This record gives sequence, C-alpha cells and structure tokens, in this order.
Amino acid sequence: MILFPLYAAIVWAVAFAWRRTWAGALAVIAGSVAIVVLTRALQVLGLGGGGFLLLLIAESVVVGGIGLVIVLSPRRPDFPHCHRCGHDLRGLDGAVLRCPECGTPRQDTPEGRVGKPAVRVDFERAAEEAGVA
Ligand SMILES: [Zn+2]
Repeated sequence: MILFPLYAAIVWAVAFAWRRTWAGALAVIAGSVAIVVLTRALQVLGLGGGGFLLLLIAESVVVGGIGLVIVLSPRRPDFPHCHRCGHDLRGLDGAVLRCPECGTPRQDTPEGRVGKPAVRVDFERAAEEAGVA
C-alpha cells in the first residue's frame, strides 16, 4: 500500500520539475495511463478483487488530476522580475527602486540585479578548449 503514495509522489515530482512543458504533461498522462493498463492486465489475468481494481482506478484519477494541476502551475522566470507581479525588470538600472508595474520595492542586489544572473557562455574559450579553434 506504500506503493500508491510513492508512485503518486514520483509522478508529481516529474510534473513539478517539468512544469509548463509538453514533456511534463506527457509524463503525467503516461503515469496515469500506466495504472489503467496495470488494472486492465490484472483484470484479464483474473487477479485482484473488485475493490483493489477500483482502488487502482481511483489512484489513476488522483495521480492524473493532481499531476495536471501541478504541470499547469506557473514557473518562476529565470530573468530579473518583480517578485510580486512577475513584471520583467530586465533593462532597468539600479536607480529604479520599485517595480514600474505594481510599485513593489525591488529585491535587488546592490548592482541593481534581480534573481539569478544570466548564464553566459564563452564560445571562443570553449572552442579553444575543444581544439576546434
Ligand atoms: Zn510588480
């Protein structure tokens, strides 16, 4: 019986990691359909009572329903943004102390940056290290 919540937790963790992606939606649907397939296989083989099969169908509905809610939940943007309304703060210098959209004070570093710094790739150095350049 520990397998029911464990299976649901795994499917929901994948849904959370892949929020707002088709891969996440497909993972939730596959996770839900897998339970239906298992239920049908047990039914064909004559294993499992009616109550157990009903429990599996309920698990499928709960895993799929909650998984879809999780997969549709919004992601935090990976660029500077207002922590209250999500307004894009890229391009604003440190002199702008409040979100221009809602007026919430910015959660800035002293340099006027918000959120995670942008990932920069040094292509020339990477090419030199790979021996291509
Ligand atoms: Zn705002």
